[in-house]
Amino acid sequence: ATFKDAGLHPAMLKNVQLAGYDVPTPIQRYCLPAIHLGYDVIGIAQTGSGKTAAFLIPILNKLMGKAKKLAAPRPNPATFVEGVSPRVRAEPLVVIVSPTRELAVQIFNEARKFCYRTMLRPCVVYGGGGFREQEEQLQKGCDVLIATPGRLIHFINNPQTLTLRRVRYMVIDEADEMLMDDWKDDLTTIMSGGEQEEGNINYMLFSATFPKGARDLARTHLAETHVRLR
Ligand code: AMP
Repeated sequence: ATFKDAGLHPAMLKNVQLAGYDVPTPIQRYCLPAIHLGYDVIGIAQTGSGKTAAFLIPILNKLMGKAKKLAAPRPNPATFVEGVSPRVRAEPLVVIVSPTRELAVQIFNEARKFCYRTMLRPCVVYGGGGFREQEEQLQKGCDVLIATPGRLIHFINNPQTLTLRRVRYMVIDEADEMLMDDWKDDLTTIMSGGEQEEGNINYMLFSATFPKGARDLARTHLAETHVRLR
């Protein structure tokens, strides 16, 4: 089967075709229907398997149908003051956590392709980047946030800038890498979603290996019903 037969939103199909993707990779063939049906997903997969698109396409596709209704607050142009950009608090619908700046930027670039000509605005923050610039980016409005864990915690602790209360989808990418770097407590904080009402978040956990720490996170946060891929 090709992406044409996947029942995608027309804007998403267009963007998938613009990206040059024709046939889904194996992990995409599993993740598209599973995420579409609302399952939490554990994906045991390496870089190069197409896992980024495997979560981005179905998540963004689901949101596209409801983007108008769901889209996070936008700065009000009526409040425009010359030289001062209007600001809102970022209330993303999707949060993707990634171990490194390089991977975060890679996911962001992929997200940009799939968000093209939609209401969804992607945004990326990572350790080592300027706090002020990233805060400004967030405050322009953000629907899809890609972040490294430390910087994400920083902004979560700054609720004027970011809140997780509207998050519907959370992706933990390369979980094993982050656990090796001792991010377990922070991942637990992030995955608990702040003032989120329980059960509102769909979780996707990707990892090249599946060590105990990753199993713990999955057991604590993912729903009982999930598809496991090997
Ligand atoms: P990833 O495993 O997400 O890092 O993706 C590896 C590479 O495969 C990236 O350069 C993607 O742009 C590309 N890719 C992902 N899915 C497809 C697909 N269905 N067809 C062709 N290329 C793809």
